[in-house]
Amino acid sequence: LAAALSLAKVGAEVALVGPPTPVAAATDTRTAALFNGSITLLENLGVWRELEPVSAALKGIRIIDDTGGLLRAPEVLFEAREVGERLFGWNVPNAPLAMALWEAAKRDKRITIVETARVEHVEIRPDVAVARTAEGEELRAKLVAAADGRRSICRAAAGIATTTWDYDQAAIATRFEHSRPHDGISTEFHRKSGPFTVVPLPGLESGLVWVERPAIAKRLVELDEDGFRVVLETRLQGLLGRVGAIGERRLFPLMGLTAEAYGRSRVVLIGEAGHVIPPIGAQGLNLGLRDAATVADCVAEAMARGEDVGGPEVTRHYHERRKVDVESRIMAVDILNRTLLSTLLPVSLLRGFGMHLIRSFGPLKKALIRQGLEPSGPRPTLMESGGAAMHMATEQMQASA
Ligand SMILES: Cc1cc2nc3c(=O)[nH]c(=O)nc-3n(C[C@H](O)[C@H](O)[C@H](O)COP(=O)(O)OP(=O)(O)OC[C@H]3O[C@@H](n4cnc5c(N)ncnc54)[C@H](O)[C@@H]3O)c2cc1C
Repeated sequence: LAAALSLAKVGAEVALVGPPTPVAAATDTRTAALFNGSITLLENLGVWRELEPVSAALKGIRIIDDTGGLLRAPEVLFEAREVGERLFGWNVPNAPLAMALWEAAKRDKRITIVETARVEHVEIRPDVAVARTAEGEELRAKLVAAADGRRSICRAAAGIATTTWDYDQAAIATRFEHSRPHDGISTEFHRKSGPFTVVPLPGLESGLVWVERPAIAKRLVELDEDGFRVVLETRLQGLLGRVGAIGERRLFPLMGLTAEAYGRSRVVLIGEAGHVIPPIGAQGLNLGLRDAATVADCVAEAMARGEDVGGPEVTRHYHERRKVDVESRIMAVDILNRTLLSTLLPVSLLRGFGMHLIRSFGPLKKALIRQGLEPSGPRPTLMESGGAAMHMATEQMQASA
């Protein structure tokens, strides 16, 4: 959805092909902590105004060592003001986010929505990509922005191989009310089975991402609400006071995936079609939104040069622009997750030492904050304030030339 809207913003004619968003959005219990660049993209796509009231500002991120190791690492609080920002970003519930993007796509005259149960077949020809839906409709496009998830058939059609790995972990995602204010601080408890994270929502409510071994996570999801509340309050160690109403709980198996190329043969990979990482440090959707904004830049540049928007130059530029950003996040999140799961004493000591270093050495802390928030590499135009207007001005100049 974000890729379709971003491409339409730079003047491309887009077919948005897939199952209708309202069906999938209805069951998504997740929230996404989105950093400032992602929020600017949502502003430029014209959906932020309606999302702000259901989202909560993120002023800080606290990390608590709850691994129960011999040497407990010190608590670290990263605050946005340490790097001269008012906020890190906002925590946005996935369901209204998807719905706002869907409604914006329906309003956009450059986007044609093709509702289908699924795309069944994709064929890449030298001059065009051809997709066939389950209902038998055939669609042709110069470029496929493949946002069809981790089992992407568009990626397979382009012959892009992947490396996948398993974490033997699952995440429970839900939201809950509580009696004490969160003060705009997201808290990550680092536990041996994975992180347990509470992220602010408006008022006295928070989103929860609780990573556990799959069998334990399944048992936790199956508990009745009172049973789950007892365990949740224990895990929170009084941080948010008494726990009130708890939303629907859903389980997400965790895995890792990276593609050997992010663009090739008229296909560019967007979101989990190109990269899947565990929910640590809130990187997944932020990366996916950067993919969407970047493909818009690549296509805008090709249109300005009068080139084929799905040609090898475009897919190569896209791959080059996304590679470092995506691969550096995959590596950082993977290392952090594995140091939690490791039972080796030297690994725990190293993690503890790292936390001490971050706490006591200001420049390192600031560098880490910047690294977590900003893309590695140039910021795409639609993530700049006024980025949509910049694209529109370029398009008007080209039209009048
Ligand atoms: C518990 C949890 C918490 C998270 N929290 C955060 C966070 O705080 N911040 C953050 O940045 N990220 C977070 N993430 C990551 C984020 O949720 C994902 O990066 C994001 O949802 C991936 O979206 P996607 O659109 O790439 O993939 P998907 O959501 O899998 O979407 C793929 C789409 O493709 C469609 N599709 C698939 N196959 C076909 C086909 N053949 N034909 C047509 N359509 C098809 C599907 O119907 C679906 O709509 C979290 C993830 C988890 C699991």
